[in-house]
Amino acid sequence: MAYEQPTIDVPALTALLDGPYADVRARVCESLVEHADLLGAADEMPRDDYRDLVRDTVLALAKSGQTAYHVPEEYGGRGDFGATVAAFETTAYGDLSVLVKIGVQFGLFGGAVQNLGTKHHHDAYLADLAAGRLLGCFAMTETGHGSNVQAIGTTATYDDHTQEFVIHTPDEASGKDYIGNAARHAEMAAVFAQLYVGGENRGVHCLLVPIRRDDAVLPGVRIEDCGHKMGLNGVDNGRIWFDEVRVPREALLDRFAEVSPAGVYSSSIENPNRRFFTMLGTLVMGRVCVGGAGISAAKVALAIAVRYADRRRQFNATSQDQEELLLDYGMHQRRLFPLLAHTYALHFAQDVLRSRFDDVFSGRETDERDQRALESRAAGTKALATWHATETIQECREACGGAGYISRNRFTALKADTDVFTTFEGDNHVLLQLVAKGLLTDYSSDFEDLDQFGMVRFVAGMAVDQVVERTMAHKLLESLRDLLPGGDDDWDQQAGLLDPAYHLAMLRFREEHMIATVARRLKRGIDEGVEPGEVFSRVQDHVIAAARAHVERLVVDAFVERHAALEDGPLKVALGLLSDLHALTTIEGDRGWFMEHGRLSSARSKAITREISDLCRKLRPLAVDLVDGFGIPEEMLRADELLTWS
Ligand SMILES: Cc1cc2nc3c(=O)[nH]c(=O)nc-3n(C[C@H](O)[C@H](O)[C@H](O)COP(=O)(O)OP(=O)(O)OC[C@H]3O[C@@H](n4cnc5c(N)ncnc54)[C@H](O)[C@@H]3O)c2cc1C
Repeated sequence: MAYEQPTIDVPALTALLDGPYADVRARVCESLVEHADLLGAADEMPRDDYRDLVRDTVLALAKSGQTAYHVPEEYGGRGDFGATVAAFETTAYGDLSVLVKIGVQFGLFGGAVQNLGTKHHHDAYLADLAAGRLLGCFAMTETGHGSNVQAIGTTATYDDHTQEFVIHTPDEASGKDYIGNAARHAEMAAVFAQLYVGGENRGVHCLLVPIRRDDAVLPGVRIEDCGHKMGLNGVDNGRIWFDEVRVPREALLDRFAEVSPAGVYSSSIENPNRRFFTMLGTLVMGRVCVGGAGISAAKVALAIAVRYADRRRQFNATSQDQEELLLDYGMHQRRLFPLLAHTYALHFAQDVLRSRFDDVFSGRETDERDQRALESRAAGTKALATWHATETIQECREACGGAGYISRNRFTALKADTDVFTTFEGDNHVLLQLVAKGLLTDYSSDFEDLDQFGMVRFVAGMAVDQVVERTMAHKLLESLRDLLPGGDDDWDQQAGLLDPAYHLAMLRFREEHMIATVARRLKRGIDEGVEPGEVFSRVQDHVIAAARAHVERLVVDAFVERHAALEDGPLKVALGLLSDLHALTTIEGDRGWFMEHGRLSSARSKAITREISDLCRKLRPLAVDLVDGFGIPEEMLRADELLTWS
């Protein structure tokens, strides 16, 4: 049957992507347009002026209620967690210093007060915090310890004579580092410290510590500016040291642990490891938001690059009268369209994550396992989405040639500001280890109690069959073997390539094979008497590959499911092309593995590449509509030279 070219109803596509938060997103877009001048400010203003302008913009947005939808109504919000994420994703179309300052103030600092504190903290601070009257920072990372938060050195020692905590930095390496809002604007810090009560270390807890009043740093607190950064220079990142600073007993955020006036420590969670991971788990919103912001930044880059390529001509190719449009070149399509397809796929995966996050945090979903699965999904989506943003922005910059390199055309800031998304809110490789832990232990009841060596011991403690069973890998491996032919002769090479069942079977096979073999390797290492740390280190690349394979499968799942639910029509056809392109390029990207494991013959592998080129050609006429469908305000693209080129 001849292929019928669909036409896209762009507003309908935007409505589909906006989903239930169209009003929230529209409101944010209006504000972004109002503050559009800010996009060029980083290049033109002295740093401190830029930082103050960013703060003022954040405060203006806070006043209009767009930055803290998640705060309960009685403190000025709407108690709507999903809306906060949607607003954050949309704010990412604009200046990213504003975005990150919002994240620090309302997500991290506000999130610590809301999720780790109790009613008296909420009554004392949430309304001021949500309105931007109280500016704060989130002081977790130290120079000596970033990813390994459990090993931080700052101490909070209870003095039962005065009923105060003494906050202290014991050495230079225990200074808080990279802390957003600290260098210039924050008045209060949510400080993570080892809690000492009656001489006993109770592990990492969070306390509210005033650090600045009327622009002056308070006694006992020392703050240094982190200085110029690769990007995000509108955010005042700083270092903080404490010299025996005293705060009242009530400064401890005490949802998970209390200290009585007489100095008796109590917690509803007895195991310190479990308590620590439970506390951190409540701060998952930051990860959900940063992943979403990465997807938005990729959309901005693609919107510019695709539209530029639809105007820019180079070389005579098909006609002597006119040079060819860049977007008509197969290579240009090959560079941009798979990235466009991945962006759509991640958008739908982010929809699933946002909605699960909203279910758990609104209390609709209270099952502990769902909570753990949410943390894992947030970690994995954040890692893939932010790596995707970095890759996409670079490719789009190159696709715009020299013009992409000129700062007023947006890419300079986009590239520099998003680069660190792969590091903050959890380094991506470290996050994928968290995902792997969930897969290997199937979110066991001991999940939060397990550090990475605990996980190795946990897996090693089971019989091999039990490992495979536990890792969910047992169900499909055999049945998939029949579904996925390996040889050259037994299969019409092109057949089934556009079948979502085939895509999912391939990706499930890879995921489950990897998890099962990781589990076996961990177990074998321990059985051979190798130290758990050494075993883990030897298998670590495999562990991370398994986690990545899992998240890639979730992303394909999300797109396939959303596509299947669409009403028949041109939009469904167009998104179907993208969904196929996304899945096939994901398989193609790891074709070496599939061939090594007998799931892909060389003939079929070549057929996949041919199919991808074919899909790109089909998508060519739709590409501009597909980026217009993102609904990014023109002012935010700020690439006039590129977009009006003729
Ligand atoms: C601009 C910016 C803003 C920030 N804002 C804040 C803030 O407001 N508040 C705050 O508390 N923190 C903040 N951070 C800190 C940020 O969260 C940390 O940088 C991050 O957690 C990583 O820690 P690290 O820099 O010490 O890197 P490290 O943990 O030292 O990691 C360095 C490298 O080692 C790898 N690595 C680490 N552990 C392992 C392992 N077990 N196995 C294999 N590889 C490993 C990582 O993958 C990474 O590539 C900010 C950082 C930046 C740059």
